[in-house]
Amino acid sequence: MEQLPKCPECGSEYTYEDGQNYVCPECAHEWSQTAEEVEEGIVARDANGNLLTDGDTVTVIKDLKVKGSSSTLKIGTRVKNIRLVEGDHNIDCKIDGFGAMKLKSEFVKKN
Ligand SMILES: [Zn+2]
Repeated sequence: MEQLPKCPECGSEYTYEDGQNYVCPECAHEWSQTAEEVEEGIVARDANGNLLTDGDTVTVIKDLKVKGSSSTLKIGTRVKNIRLVEGDHNIDCKIDGFGAMKLKSEFVKKN
């Protein structure tokens, strides 16, 4: 039999599945099966508070100085196929004319 998690509210072992949710028959608590996986991943939000995911295309919302270069990444630059990483600069990407670089998610918005 498939091992279902215990109810996080009351610890009951009689959890059952209901579509995308788990349901506890003892305290009627319902929770999402995917909640735990989402929390373990890297959470990055754009300037509007939208969640970003690997492979997203984003737009730069302000001019950004590029470290070790005299050029500036201009507002409105589209950045394709981002990858989320841990840290202060939480977006790993490649930008035409700049190459591989890292951005802060707060300075982009999701397309
Ligand atoms: Zn319960």
